Amino acid sequence: MLELQQTDPEVFALIEAEERYEFETLRLIPSENYASAAVIQALGSVLTNKYSEGYAGKRYYEGQRYVDTLEELAIARAKSLFEVDHANVQPYSGSPANMAAYYALLQPGDTIMGLSLPHGGHLTHGWDVNFSARFYHSVQYVVDRQTHLIDYDAVRALAKEARPKIIVCGATAYPRLFDFKAFGEIAKEVDAYFLADIAHIAGLIAAGAHPSPAPYADVITTTTHKTLRGPRGAMIMCRGEFAQSIDRAVFPALQGGPHDHTTAAIAVALKEAASPEFKEYGAQVVRNAKALAGELLERGFDLVSGGTDNHLVLIDLTNKGVTGKKASKALDRAGIVVNANTVPYDPRKPFSPSGIRIGSPAVTSRGMKEPEMRRIVAWMDEVIANADDEQALERIRNEVRDFCVAFPAPGIRIPS
Ligand SMILES: *Cc1c(COP(=O)(O)O)cnc(C)c1O
Repeated sequence: MLELQQTDPEVFALIEAEERYEFETLRLIPSENYASAAVIQALGSVLTNKYSEGYAGKRYYEGQRYVDTLEELAIARAKSLFEVDHANVQPYSGSPANMAAYYALLQPGDTIMGLSLPHGGHLTHGWDVNFSARFYHSVQYVVDRQTHLIDYDAVRALAKEARPKIIVCGATAYPRLFDFKAFGEIAKEVDAYFLADIAHIAGLIAAGAHPSPAPYADVITTTTHKTLRGPRGAMIMCRGEFAQSIDRAVFPALQGGPHDHTTAAIAVALKEAASPEFKEYGAQVVRNAKALAGELLERGFDLVSGGTDNHLVLIDLTNKGVTGKKASKALDRAGIVVNANTVPYDPRKPFSPSGIRIGSPAVTSRGMKEPEMRRIVAWMDEVIANADDEQALERIRNEVRDFCVAFPAPGIRIPS
């Protein structure tokens, strides 16, 4: 990045500092990962110079000889990896992808039904500060108070009562598997569309470490930058019958020119995700999350749903006498990056919730395995018990830094 350093030393220094930070810390935010150097190279390419409104073979601009081939390659790889009829790789990110899916299938004022945000759902699934509750009528299902699991009988009962036009299944903080078949059946019973938003778990699905919604969902939306380990971006996949309305919703209804540099990087990530190494990666992500959960339970932590089947663990810190905010800030000072998170039926406010959310995708990308997970939890336990002890946090920060240096991170050149 020599030219960047010369042109803009300020931005260069900030990027370098971030790179070092990502290298020297344990990044446990379950939506984050390390994109490969190949993905980052495609993203930082001359494709950012292009305008290519439209779709391959039907562009509004000339000069698309390479871009058409590139977008078709990304689409073909998505269709093959996720076994779907159709894929659109142009959505700018996960939230716009969901907006496009609703735009394609619904009229303003129609009823959407999604998992409530404080129970693990996403803003775009009908939460009240989001467009999805402003433009549509939103009803929300919740998880069971005792088990913290989705209660499919309760979902069915609510669907029968509310008669939604679309049922959304997907989450940002649900540590268990989704029963996509059950959602598909419920949607059929009430004549609703079934949208599976697999943003968090797309990489696990691609790796065969989580069941796929492809046989049951009408539409599947996903980000490409979480467990899938690609660039920030999104895709919408669907049955053939919805292909045209999905494509028209993305362009021209909601977006202009696609981000061709992102499309290139998505194509690279999809190729990587189809490899045997990625299959092993997905399996290890789940094994590592289970190792984190097991060690946390050993140390008396209270886990939402009692454990995990996927890449994330949601910890209720109430019994430890510390808030999620305080714990996450202390952990960050100690080089362990997590986020505060609401837990189901949280008596506290969303900005200062009772829990923290951790995940294994990024540390697994660095080659860490079960023994490293147990080491991480030991540090977490120590930090949470000593959240006000700046000296202890500083010592742990140094231990974490020394530990991280032994695990090369994809996309990051080892800083000298
Ligand atoms: C991350 C996420 C999104 C939104 O993606 P952005 O790229 O942040 O807009 C949507 N749905 C779910 C389930 C997510 O986890």
